[in-house]
Amino acid sequence: MRIDLHTHSTASDGTERPAEVIAAAARAGLDVVALTDHDTTRGWAEAAEAAVTHDIMLVRGMEVSCSRDGVSVHLLAYLPDPTNAALTAELERARESRVTRLERMVEKLAADGIPVTMEDVRSQVAIGATLGRPHIADALVASGVVADRNEAFGNLLHNRSRYYVTHYAPDPVDAVRIVRWAGGVPVVAHPFAVSRGRTASESTIEEMAAAGLAGLEAHHRDHDAGARQRAVALADRLGIFVTGSSDYHGTGKENRLGENLTDPGVLAQIEEQASGVEVIRP
Ligand code: AMP
Ligand code: FE
Ligand code: FE
Ligand code: ZN
Repeated sequence: MRIDLHTHSTASDGTERPAEVIAAAARAGLDVVALTDHDTTRGWAEAAEAAVTHDIMLVRGMEVSCSRDGVSVHLLAYLPDPTNAALTAELERARESRVTRLERMVEKLAADGIPVTMEDVRSQVAIGATLGRPHIADALVASGVVADRNEAFGNLLHNRSRYYVTHYAPDPVDAVRIVRWAGGVPVVAHPFAVSRGRTASESTIEEMAAAGLAGLEAHHRDHDAGARQRAVALADRLGIFVTGSSDYHGTGKENRLGENLTDPGVLAQIEEQASGVEVIRP
């Protein structure tokens, strides 16, 4: 069983439609794929239909942006009830804040002579998608300011950039409780990915575990061998599982489907713990 539990589509900052991500997952020889767009379930319906067509199992999920003391934490949530009021309220608040935040980043860039408008950014994004910095990057690529997303992040959009603006995001411990309340299974995405900036402290992860955290994404491109070992050891100590996944973003990132995988036994635990929605089986 080849299981990849972390991918993005045009419902957030992936470059392929949900149906295309599912088709690509089937082509990559995966048996199970999770669609985990940032702060939205908008891609679920299209992905579910495509999963049946392409004969692949689909875990419906999302990646909830969280933050504590200026440190960003990404929380994967598998199989939550997409109609849960507490969850939908938090997601909506984060998505709305992402819009004003992107407007402010664009203003700062433009004020410094970098040619970009919110219209340029909007033209890169599917209607209703969760807006993120990659969409500014896409606008800068379209106008020839940078060659690709990676260059845009390296030069202008990274967390310590003068153009960086934060957005509302729930506290990671609150987010764990809300995901559980919605019947979902919460897993910290790339917990020790230092290339992305400061990462959650072990004490924050301990607090999250006490609140119901189910696992850590140990096997991820942004973790070197040491970070993977650290995640495995911490999960062990906390009595939670580890996952491995690609964090596929289409052509938006180098991450390839299936480059890291999750054990079938862990998928079974996720299914057992979830009570929001079911895994889609073709
Ligand atoms: P945001 O959600 O607006 O904070 O933007 C963060 C997103 O940008 C992450 O989910 C990544 O998918 C993407 N990202 C971060 N660094 C890079 C990079 N160097 N190249 C491409 N995408 C990136
Ligand atoms: Fe992303
Ligand atoms: Fe992430
Ligand atoms: Zn992701």
